[in-house]
Amino acid sequence: MKKHKAAKHGINVVWFSCDQDNCDYKAKTAGALKQHKQHVHNIKVVWNRCDSCEYKVMQAGNLKQHKQRIHNIGVIWHQCDSYDYKAKQAGDLKRHKRTQHPAEDNNWSFNEDGGVWWVEL
Ligand SMILES: [Zn+2]
Ligand SMILES: [Zn+2]
Ligand SMILES: [Zn+2]
Repeated sequence: MKKHKAAKHGINVVWFSCDQDNCDYKAKTAGALKQHKQHVHNIKVVWNRCDSCEYKVMQAGNLKQHKQRIHNIGVIWHQCDSYDYKAKQAGDLKRHKRTQHPAEDNNWSFNEDGGVWWVEL
């Protein structure tokens, strides 16, 4: 049985919940949860450590995100065709193109006198 009422009341507190079945334990720090899991469930918690800073996290996926976000490691850059911009997320590049290069994205054509018109392909 799992209870999901903590989120409502624990304002400003990020709880680290135990992910084991039939366990409602939650801790205020990752370290406390780690101890709990080791002592109560006999689970050895392996930290995934960042080799570029002090950051450590239990889930490998989170370390990957951290490295991408903080150290730009393993980032697949989305580069603008004009080489004036690159983004970590495809959506950001899309937004950049829409605002900075509207002609490319939307089939808009430009006239010398400043006129714009839509070109059907
Ligand atoms: Zn537990
Ligand atoms: Zn780091
Ligand atoms: Zn651009």
